[in-house]
Amino acid sequence: MAIATTNPATGETVKEFDALTSEQLEEKLQRAWDAFQTYRDTTFEQRAGWLRAAADIFDAENERLAELATLEMGKTFAAAKAEVTKCALGCRWYADHAEEDLADVEWPKPASAPEHARIFTRYQPLGPVLAVMPWNFPYWQVLRFAAPALMAGNVGLLKHASNVPQVALAIEDVLTRAGFPDGAFQTLLVGSSVIEGIIDDDRVRAVTLTGSEPAGREVGARASQNVKTSVLELGGSDPFIVMPSADMDSTVAAAVSSRMLNNGQSCINAKRFIVHEQIADEFTQKLVQKMESLTMGDPMDENTDLGPMSQAQGVEDLDSQVQDSVGAGARLLTGGKPHGGPGNYYPATVLADIPKDARAYREELFGPVALVFRAQDADDAIRIANDSDFGLGGSAWTEDEDEKIKFATQVESGMVYINKVTESTPEVPFGGAKNSGYGRELASFGPQSFVNAKTIWIQ
Ligand code: NAP
Repeated sequence: MAIATTNPATGETVKEFDALTSEQLEEKLQRAWDAFQTYRDTTFEQRAGWLRAAADIFDAENERLAELATLEMGKTFAAAKAEVTKCALGCRWYADHAEEDLADVEWPKPASAPEHARIFTRYQPLGPVLAVMPWNFPYWQVLRFAAPALMAGNVGLLKHASNVPQVALAIEDVLTRAGFPDGAFQTLLVGSSVIEGIIDDDRVRAVTLTGSEPAGREVGARASQNVKTSVLELGGSDPFIVMPSADMDSTVAAAVSSRMLNNGQSCINAKRFIVHEQIADEFTQKLVQKMESLTMGDPMDENTDLGPMSQAQGVEDLDSQVQDSVGAGARLLTGGKPHGGPGNYYPATVLADIPKDARAYREELFGPVALVFRAQDADDAIRIANDSDFGLGGSAWTEDEDEKIKFATQVESGMVYINKVTESTPEVPFGGAKNSGYGRELASFGPQSFVNAKTIWIQ
């Protein structure tokens, strides 16, 4: 895939970039390794100072940075501004909390240990960490890795998605201007074909990938061949369970905002709406109405609810999933046809009565398409929710206290939210189960992801 900025709203390629030559890549890997030798000994206070300065730059240059994201991947300008704001929040959060997250942990002494023995865990950085990142939250996905990893004393190497090179370079620029030492965070403009070689390199000590399941499988396998730590944040097909006790109108509003977040291209979008049959007709009718009321258009226009999808290929893939599913017997309630004009526009779409052998039943639909399922009761809703290879997040909407606990404990996923849309925020752990990946980001898991938790016994 070419490394280029192509405006999803027009289809026009506005800037192309050369991939690094192998000599340039080698020079950057060595620079990362050299930087780590001294960066690892910087203090929490120094790192926190640089991260706070980065937060200030994210805030001061919010609109300029947000515009780049909208230009490269099509999210609405309002959403892009909110994303840049969240990066500032994330930087400040880890500047304030990482030292505590990485404090020594003292252990109880075994009977054999003398009274004066001290036994504890000390978290030490691993070294250069490769981050393979997706375009959908082009700033936040990177910062949610980088802020805690840098606080832990690691240095970062970013291989960003090929369609967001300007954002990738902007992140390096922000962190450099914030004062991080030369080589502490570098963007590698490279295609995915060289990733295996980078993982094999002895100077690279760990890898994290946020992206699709196939990419995760390859990167995870390569890391494990090299006995290197890996974190995988992969795709999802999150359930959104609705029970009769839920307030109908606010739940429908939450359903639409959760499905349409980021023009329908978030790993934690609610994708499968599993509705109790008592209220399924009313819910579906209101869902369709609300989806149809969204304004699709230019992502820079503040009245736009639904901007273009990030890539023409994404529209083609999504449409083929929808058409194949309709061919397999699913009922199309609204949308379901690409816009056809310039730009990668796909309308808000709803499918119901999706047979088990339809692609929409099994696959992740990474675009503005809602899938509606009917459940006979809470157990049936859980059965449908768990009948998926994915297990990232999910939510359930009910006022019944027993049901809240039942859904929270029995839905097979890394995160379950009750009466709340799933989200990614620095204070709360984030990550998946099943084919949605392994490892956790954010909260105290972020700083602890790429460290040697060294046991030390001194007597
Ligand atoms: P993608 O195609 O997997 O790309 C993600 C990154 O992986 C890009 O940098 C890409 O580089 C690279 N890549 C692609 N194929 C690779 C391979 N075989 N080996 C190594 N690297 C490879 O995913 P995407 O289309 O950008 O993003 C959408 C997917 O990400 C969805 O499935 C979504 O659910 C998932 N996602 C998950 C999370 C989470 O936190 N769990 C968050 C956001 C997105 P190129 O661009 O150069 O191909």
